[in-house]
Amino acid sequence: MTAKKTSVIGFPRIGKARELKFASEKFFKGEVSEADLQKAAAEIRQYGWQKQKAAGISFIPSNDFSFYDNVLDTAFLLGAVPARYKELGLSALETYFAAAHGYQGAKGDVKALPMKKWFNTNYHYIVPELDDSTELALSGDVKPLQEYNEAKAAGIQTVPSLIGPYTFLRLARYNGNKKAGAFAASAVNAYLKLVEQLAAAGAEWIAIAEPALVFDVNDEEKQLFKSIYAFLLEQVHAKTSAKILLQTYFGDIRDVYQDVVSFGFDGIGLDFVEGLKSLELVKAGFPKNTVLFAGVVNGKNIWRADYAQKNALLAEIEKSVDAANVVVGTSCSLLHVPYTVAAEQKLPAETLKHFAFAEEKLVELADLANADTAALEKNKALFAAVRVSENAAVQAALAALGDADFVRSPSRADRKKVQKEVFGLPAFPTTTIGSFPQTAEVRANRAAFKKGEITREQYVAFNQKKIAECIALQESIGLDVIVHGEFERNDMVEYFGTQIDGFIFTQNAWVQSYGTRCVKPPVVWGDIHRSKPITVEWSVFAQKQTNKPVKGMLTGPVTILNWSFPREDISLKAQAQQIGLAIRDEVLDLEKNGIKIIQIDEAALREKLPLRKSDWHKEYLDWAIPAFRLVHAKVKPETQIHTHMCYSEFNDIVRDIDAMDADVITFEASRSDLKLLDALNEAHFETQVGPGVYDIHSPRVPSVEEIVNTLHKILDKVPQENVWVNPDCGLKTRGETETTASLKNLVAAAKQLRAEA
Ligand code: GLN
Ligand code: ZN
Repeated sequence: MTAKKTSVIGFPRIGKARELKFASEKFFKGEVSEADLQKAAAEIRQYGWQKQKAAGISFIPSNDFSFYDNVLDTAFLLGAVPARYKELGLSALETYFAAAHGYQGAKGDVKALPMKKWFNTNYHYIVPELDDSTELALSGDVKPLQEYNEAKAAGIQTVPSLIGPYTFLRLARYNGNKKAGAFAASAVNAYLKLVEQLAAAGAEWIAIAEPALVFDVNDEEKQLFKSIYAFLLEQVHAKTSAKILLQTYFGDIRDVYQDVVSFGFDGIGLDFVEGLKSLELVKAGFPKNTVLFAGVVNGKNIWRADYAQKNALLAEIEKSVDAANVVVGTSCSLLHVPYTVAAEQKLPAETLKHFAFAEEKLVELADLANADTAALEKNKALFAAVRVSENAAVQAALAALGDADFVRSPSRADRKKVQKEVFGLPAFPTTTIGSFPQTAEVRANRAAFKKGEITREQYVAFNQKKIAECIALQESIGLDVIVHGEFERNDMVEYFGTQIDGFIFTQNAWVQSYGTRCVKPPVVWGDIHRSKPITVEWSVFAQKQTNKPVKGMLTGPVTILNWSFPREDISLKAQAQQIGLAIRDEVLDLEKNGIKIIQIDEAALREKLPLRKSDWHKEYLDWAIPAFRLVHAKVKPETQIHTHMCYSEFNDIVRDIDAMDADVITFEASRSDLKLLDALNEAHFETQVGPGVYDIHSPRVPSVEEIVNTLHKILDKVPQENVWVNPDCGLKTRGETETTASLKNLVAAAKQLRAEA
């Protein structure tokens, strides 16, 4: 049996020790030159190419590197740069960074382009902005060509990887009358020119990524796709000898599969990990002389691939596709996983042997392609052994769950009456989302404790002092529902993960979240169990400082799961329930200890909503919403449950949010046009709501008048008795001065409304 070929869609690009982050940050501060930054970038690219070459990867990508984001790169490549950035008169790279994260300095003051989540990942891309005067044409330095040549000079033949025109146009924002269709012809011409240049430079294959094909594709979008590729492919084939790979990922392309296979692409890349229907589609027919780039190794998670299972999948695929035409590939770019397990020194080898980060995945691709028997045997043994034993108590608790565990009684309307009595809050109650400014001393205290430089007593005493001050401040400002300030946490997921059994933490497993920002997600390793209270001590202390209610502050199960690397051996539903039970224990302990209001943040609930509407409920909401209900269903009627979400685009899932059955929800709304309010109105949303009345992402202090105006808009759509007044997210990244000033204005605005009412 001859070995198969292997392919990688993209490689991590922040640098093994986050070199790009550090070099970029120094460049932003003017501490290093552009040449220094370019050098760091070139080294990172070389590193990736050499690793892939050494692993024997057949199709190694280039142009997968980016200084900030590939979509933004594409906008610059196509000349779609809003005038306000060009007018600053900066260097090309500085102009690029101005669009990426804004510019404030001698040459002007411009905000960044908006940032959005990249499909169903935790990576964020920059949203290109097109207006009626934008003309798409290949412009500036042709980055894909430069990087192709750079690799070639190092003796490596690469596959230039481009974000395709359809996806680019689908993700762009249109500020004028012209929409995607109006830009298609010029986009195609630019891509054609680019492909010609790449082919002339020696590129044999060019990968054009069209992940937007995994969304629901309507007729108009399908037309756009067809018009783009009918022309582009014909021209490319007529004018060059380059082969075109249409690469897709993050799902299957059921809506356009028939068109895609009839188009004459030289290669088609499909995702067999997240693409629920990919196998079925291929079985329905795959063109004879086309290469299938089969994405079988999961590019998004950190577990070792089960070779037996992958081989079975490949065998199924080969019933419909000539084996010689099957390339073993990653399901998506490896950008979404860390560099290498070799950088982990603290976790035991017994644990690490179950992980495959980007570099280990290269070996997996080669093992699968070569059908390496020794590797197969070793892998079989790994999966045959018990990785982690079940926690009997957790299993019993899960098995015992019945419908009643997910339903809180009495009804929300009845609870509302009870809670009105208990709390006696004024109309338009005021509160905050939880955290208060995390000053350098707050962080220093945590760090000193972690390093063992101070005792637990010292650590606690400092935080208690901060809590007492924070509460005194809130009382003096006149807020109605108080928070303790969250000085003991740096991160809302890590804080709980480190105190619940079942999670493990890596040292260096960083993944790019956006630009220079990286995250180190916890790993769900075993059954989740809470063995001791986590927040009770802090909350009880805080409540003792005031007669006003202090909110207990927890992170919900769906958010904890969405911001972790989940297990693959049990379902997401089961993991969410396990985390739910752990957080439920905490909720009940808080209640038992006299905490009357408990906020359970679900900041990230929307993030993993499937890309296709038809999958929303059956694949996600049907377990995610109950997991939240599980957490609070057992509390007393008089205990008030709050939740918080970091976005306002939940128009489409308003009913599901209401079905979480919280008593109060706060969310981000200040930067949106409050469109959601219409949706709340139409759905007769029952949960009391606090749409954020000012933007905490900026140091700007909102005036009383401004907040009053926002509240009037809210009152047009939401019954007065349901309206809460609060900022749009936690205050931890803000300074103390602006926070106090903003909150004073917020309270003044609420008072003005009470007077009007
Ligand atoms: N309670 C958290 C805080 O205030 C919520 C953070 C968030 O929504 N991301 O910081
Ligand atoms: Zn938030």
